[in-house]
Amino acid sequence: MKTVILVHGGAGAWDKSSDRLSRAVPACRAAAAAGQSVLAAGGSAVDAVETAVHVLEDDPTLDAGRGSYPNAKGNVEMDALMMDGRTLNMGAVAAVQRIQNPISLARYVLEHSEHNFFVGPGAEALAEKAGIPRCDPTDLLTEENLTYFRSQNGSDDKSKEISAPAGPLGDTVGAVALDADGNLAAGTSTGGTRHKLPGRVGDSPLVGSGGYADNWTAAVSATGHGESLMKIVISKQACDFVGSGLSAQAACEAAIQLLVERTNGRGGLIAINARGQVGVAYNTNGMPYAYAIGTEPVVSGH
Ligand code: ASP
Repeated sequence: MKTVILVHGGAGAWDKSSDRLSRAVPACRAAAAAGQSVLAAGGSAVDAVETAVHVLEDDPTLDAGRGSYPNAKGNVEMDALMMDGRTLNMGAVAAVQRIQNPISLARYVLEHSEHNFFVGPGAEALAEKAGIPRCDPTDLLTEENLTYFRSQNGSDDKSKEISAPAGPLGDTVGAVALDADGNLAAGTSTGGTRHKLPGRVGDSPLVGSGGYADNWTAAVSATGHGESLMKIVISKQACDFVGSGLSAQAACEAAIQLLVERTNGRGGLIAINARGQVGVAYNTNGMPYAYAIGTEPVVSGH
């Protein structure tokens, strides 16, 4: 079976003329290429998703890992989800602060815990136990994001909360993969929306909303306005559309249409179905993405 890796860099409020988008597309291409190498070497879909998401989390342009948007108090709180389509096992973490690659912690939960979802201090303790590299939360803040925080807050004072409403969109990252054995996996990682309130968790770590993977249908990763996406459990919805006979592309489009009709929300989706067909849809200004089928060259867009 031909392997497939497909990644996105968020359906955020991209300005098509800004140089941020021109940095995000190469990041997606690098992530797809990294995932492709893993699959070519016989790695599993879960391995490929973790590797690709690492590349995106490490890129400071994107809202995950380093580059995560600070919340209303200037602190980073990140969410991540990983799902294995073979077993339906999942791992999720929310509001973690000292972990450079939250997707690896989500994978650890998926593979090593009897539970599915960890938050806050319990999640951080698990990272310690798992030997997952920790970092100072300020290492994850980029100069660009700090400058924006200061401009909204009027200072660096973290006891003062930004009173403006949270930004509706981020530049969450995600990946879906199909391996040579026909197994699907999905992963999503985010710093959430700009100056969200402390403790706010979006759709990204919620199974079925931020992502879903089921070998019987598809693997999907979502991005966009979390408060809307979770209302229609959009990733599971897209998988169900595939199950009812739609192609991966038509399923993504139908799920975005449903998002608009039921919530008036904005977002984007990527999907691979069990036959290795890809789908990409969004109703925002843009969504950088890239994919690689078998050993063919990486294809990208936004
Ligand atoms: N869905 C993410 C959240 O609401 C943000 C994004 O994907 O842009 O946290």
